Amino acid sequence: TKWVYGFGNGTADGKAEMRDLLGGKGANLAEMSSIGLPVPPGFTVTTEVCTYYYANSRAYPPELKAQVAAALADVEKIVGRKFGDPDNPLLVSVRSGARASMPGMMDTVLNLGLNDTTVLGLVRSSGDERFAYDSYRRFIQMYCNVVLEIDHHNFEEVLEQKKLDLDVHLDTDLKASDWKDVIKQYKKVIERELGKPFPQDPQEQLWGAVGAVFGSWMNQRAITYRKLHDIPESWGTAVNVQAMVFGNMGDDCATGVAFTRNPSTGENLFYGEYLVNAQGEDVVAGIRTPQQLTVQGKEAQKSDRPAMEEVMPEVYGQLAEIRSTLERHYRDMQDIEFTVQSGKLYMLQTRNGKRTAKAALKIAVDMVREGLIDRKEAVTRIAPASLDQLLHPTLDPKAQRKVLAKGLPASPGAAFGKVVFTADAAEKMARDGEKVILVRRETSPEDIHGMHAAQGILTSTGGMTSHAAVVARGMGKPCVAGAGDVRIDAKAGTLTVRGTTVKAGEAITLDGSTGEVILGIVPTIQPELSGDFAELMDWADGVRTLKVRTNAETPADAATARKFGAEGIGLCRTEHMFFEGDRIVAVRQMILSDDEKGRRAALARIAPMQRQDFVELFEIMAGLPVTIRLLDPPLHEFLPKTDAEMAQVARELGVAEKEIEARAAKLHEFNPMLGHRGVRLGISYPEIYEMQARAIFEAAVEVRKKHGKTVDAEIMIPLVATKRELDLMKEVIDQVANEVGKLNGVTLDYKVGTMIELPRAALRAGEIAESAEFFSFGTNDLTQTTFGLSRDDSASFLERYQRRGIFEHDPFATLDVEGVGELIRIAHERGRRTRKDLKLGICGEHGGDPASVFFCHQVGLDYVSCSPFRVPIARLAAAQAAL
Ligand code: ADP
Ligand code: MG
Ligand code: MG
Repeated sequence: TKWVYGFGNGTADGKAEMRDLLGGKGANLAEMSSIGLPVPPGFTVTTEVCTYYYANSRAYPPELKAQVAAALADVEKIVGRKFGDPDNPLLVSVRSGARASMPGMMDTVLNLGLNDTTVLGLVRSSGDERFAYDSYRRFIQMYCNVVLEIDHHNFEEVLEQKKLDLDVHLDTDLKASDWKDVIKQYKKVIERELGKPFPQDPQEQLWGAVGAVFGSWMNQRAITYRKLHDIPESWGTAVNVQAMVFGNMGDDCATGVAFTRNPSTGENLFYGEYLVNAQGEDVVAGIRTPQQLTVQGKEAQKSDRPAMEEVMPEVYGQLAEIRSTLERHYRDMQDIEFTVQSGKLYMLQTRNGKRTAKAALKIAVDMVREGLIDRKEAVTRIAPASLDQLLHPTLDPKAQRKVLAKGLPASPGAAFGKVVFTADAAEKMARDGEKVILVRRETSPEDIHGMHAAQGILTSTGGMTSHAAVVARGMGKPCVAGAGDVRIDAKAGTLTVRGTTVKAGEAITLDGSTGEVILGIVPTIQPELSGDFAELMDWADGVRTLKVRTNAETPADAATARKFGAEGIGLCRTEHMFFEGDRIVAVRQMILSDDEKGRRAALARIAPMQRQDFVELFEIMAGLPVTIRLLDPPLHEFLPKTDAEMAQVARELGVAEKEIEARAAKLHEFNPMLGHRGVRLGISYPEIYEMQARAIFEAAVEVRKKHGKTVDAEIMIPLVATKRELDLMKEVIDQVANEVGKLNGVTLDYKVGTMIELPRAALRAGEIAESAEFFSFGTNDLTQTTFGLSRDDSASFLERYQRRGIFEHDPFATLDVEGVGELIRIAHERGRRTRKDLKLGICGEHGGDPASVFFCHQVGLDYVSCSPFRVPIARLAAAQAAL
């Protein structure tokens, strides 16, 4: 087996398509090398070695040693240095790289191969003693941190003390002799912590680092990241070993990171940051504030420090050239890392850049205009769920705002919440239902859970490519980074900006699009959905076959959904209308009447209101289908709870309060979700469904008379288990339709159908379809009844079920394709066999979940129905499913 793939010198064993085997980083290093970009030579140990390693109690395949030695020899030949050579040593970096990029999850070791002897060789070959010892101490620090797992505070203390002694502030102020001193003390720390010296043998160093990379695949940070991003554990990581180039050898050296377009807005402008005389992670670590790549970027940030374009025009020119080469090659926005050694440019990484939803949209639409991709490709470029970011509110520009400070607009959107200073506090308060803003000097991968829990993130150091910025953009959370005026005292629980102090628990607002940090809570407004958004959605609509409807019962929701492109209402839950205003009084009166006469009296009070509801919905939906579900929930949900409520109902009905209490008690059920609800109510009290049907038909007549508009009403009976239940209710409905039609001299056009939310209904679908003209899969209840799992009571153990791998996803969020999905398939097949034109849709929460939308498309449903804000997500997911 080939376990090791080399690259460099204009060729490579691997290529971009081999990311499963080589990891993203390795595959793209190979690709860049073979298209002739300047990449330091190196080799990739494959992800299969990682798999092997874990399958064989952390042992390597026997051939690995020899293959690594051969690959290393190739690198030595290309650069003309030898690994471990005391005169002219080859130094390497050891870098992890999984299939999916896991930024910051696994650490890189730089300058590997240095020891007390080779450092002298580096002094001689570079002619720069300070550089050589600076590199050595960096190596020791990183190696100890990543491989030997000695806490980095130990080393920071030594360095801080040294700076104090010398009375200097910056690392760059330390001289060669100072670094030698620091190294001496570092070694003491190691002896103290480990009881043995720092490994001097370069081979031991190399294999130590390789083992650490594989080991890190199973560290807590990586496991958490995988869980959050649905990355299977089985993928494994690759290890890249690459010849070092040095950005820290003087003022004609630099290191930097860039995006080929602005990752926040999507603008087609080269966008990046760099630092002169620096190495590796210095740019993103937030230790020194980086400078801009371009003059344009410098002006946008109102920075007074020169751009790379000005400082190193020639190298910048090459980089700009590579920018367009890469975009044309990958046909996507790239996120690149580079280093300049003595005026020569080297590429160290490229990958498709993470971006905000806003940027993704603009880049996709722009690239179609530029001819880089076609419309279908553009449609596939946007993660449906990410549209969420575009649909949510921004700060009301007219609102008063007291701007506390300004940082970098690192991730757009607006959010307010209570200030917290630690990730744990963020998580805890969010669990208690609080909105929080996480405030840190800079975030690190240990803070991920807190970032997830927070509404937004504020940092006082770091740039647009800092950890906080990158991760926040990935999560779609607003982030203001590098707000330098914000002084954080986490111990005291305060942040201070020029005399104004905000304590933990007090509210601030962040505007991630402008970088503003605002005191208190600022109101927000709805987003505009035109321009690129409308265009892309148009393309999506052009390819999808699955229709998208909405779940709505209020005029406001229905109107929002229409604005978002809903093609009708898939679920109007009439019981929600029963809570409106003081209707509930009449509803209670109905429930607690002890005979039909009393119920009818109460229903007569509700009827005109219910009719008006439907008039409004029909008007908004203007001829699009509207599925109305007749009363569904257990009656006890409407019962009076307080004494005052009891008294009120007693007065209305003219009976004693005691009597009302007794009737209410009689309605108590042990398991209401499986109790007297759904069609069972219609069977017990047909007058309820009768009133609802009448309200629907009268509304339809009214809308037709008033606007000449047709109404496409679909009347849906919930919780049906047998055909007979449906038949009895259909009789009631048809009879009302007849009456209303005759009275108004019209024939009414409508459909009667049922929800499929009980396994029995799915199994008997063939028979039920004889009476039903449509099915709507109520997957919330169908999931509950298939699993025998209560949605409202499962939270306490669902987490454990997911952790133990019993459920891969929360089945109430993502449809259980295997079980619930099979019932849907069965019902689909049997139903359509009886009735070829049976209309099929889904109206559970799943209707807005992209993975579930994919499934619905595959099975061949006609439509999905979801909450208004999810409509664009479902439209895009449906388009992707069709491609
Ligand atoms: P990450 O996956 O966290 O981005 P990388 O493996 O890309 O980690 O390494 C981080 C940084 O280390 C790179 O951006 C680069 O600046 C530096 N680096 C890695 N390998 C080399 C090398 N061979 N020469 C110089 N710098 C390197
Ligand atoms: Mg990197
Ligand atoms: Mg239901």
